[in-house]
Amino acid sequence: ASLREKLIRSREGLFSKLKNIFKGRSIIDDEMYEELEELLVQSDIGMEMTLKIVKDLEEEVRNRGIKNPEEVFPVLRDVMEKYLIEEGTDLDIEPNRMNVILVVGVNGVGKTTTIGKIAAKLTKEGKKVVIGAGDTFRAAAIEQLEEWAKRAGAEIVKHSQGADPGAVVFDTLKAGEDKKADVVIIDTAGRLHNKNNLMQELEKINNIIKKKLGSQDYESILVIDGTTGQNGLNQAKVFNEVTKLTGFVVTKLDGTAKGGILFSISEQIKKPIKFIGVGEGVDDLREFKAKEYIQAIFD
Ligand code: GDP
Repeated sequence: ASLREKLIRSREGLFSKLKNIFKGRSIIDDEMYEELEELLVQSDIGMEMTLKIVKDLEEEVRNRGIKNPEEVFPVLRDVMEKYLIEEGTDLDIEPNRMNVILVVGVNGVGKTTTIGKIAAKLTKEGKKVVIGAGDTFRAAAIEQLEEWAKRAGAEIVKHSQGADPGAVVFDTLKAGEDKKADVVIIDTAGRLHNKNNLMQELEKINNIIKKKLGSQDYESILVIDGTTGQNGLNQAKVFNEVTKLTGFVVTKLDGTAKGGILFSISEQIKKPIKFIGVGEGVDDLREFKAKEYIQAIFD
């Protein structure tokens, strides 16, 4: 299905409501902007971001000398698009080296599914992929990841439940090297309740990766559930504090009429969105392109 079809809830929910604000109105007034503000906040964009967008919009409308409310919607579209980072949305994968993707995030956000989808996408491109089951906390997580690895035609390195995640990471990198893998994807446990623990664990994992890769860069991607609104944004802030992120995956955008978090996350954390999840199937991970996304929900 096209992105447009996958995002039908967003388009018919929030964005058609947005459009309606400007319809059948004779003048551009404070009330119009207030209505807009309310809708943007409801869509999980967050207060800070909403105020920025509305302020920008007012300025643009004034600068362009627009008097007809119906002409404001396309301006809003431009203003919102500006807040989606377009640089660096591709995965940093280079030939003739072992590329590493570390995947972090809270339980339930769609981390395992996302790893499976990324692995499938890469193997389809002919790349050799090794997955490391670094979330040793949950037996189910290891099993589920195994299923995905099988489906994707990727190898998996796993230890038993409760094993040291650092040891899994070490063995995964070793296997990746031995097998001349193009990409190694590493899952991690996502227990947020103890920030210090999380920080220590991620630091340990990062050190193991750095020791192996030397100065070579690697991806460190946070998976966020797009239906959890400001909660997702808070998770992003915490993870961004405890580890160096290179980007985000925002999942479950097929299941929400909101999805405003996409606009606040890039702007507030200054990292690109690499992929969006638009369903449970293997093909439901889409590369994030700001223009394409805007078109799918606005037009
Ligand atoms: P984890 O605990 O973070 O590893 O989460 P899982 O990968 O197990 O996913 C949790 C649930 O969310 C599963 O039922 C997935 O099928 C579902 N899920 C993951 N990504 C998406 C998505 O983009 N859209 C929808 N609709 N469901 C998703």
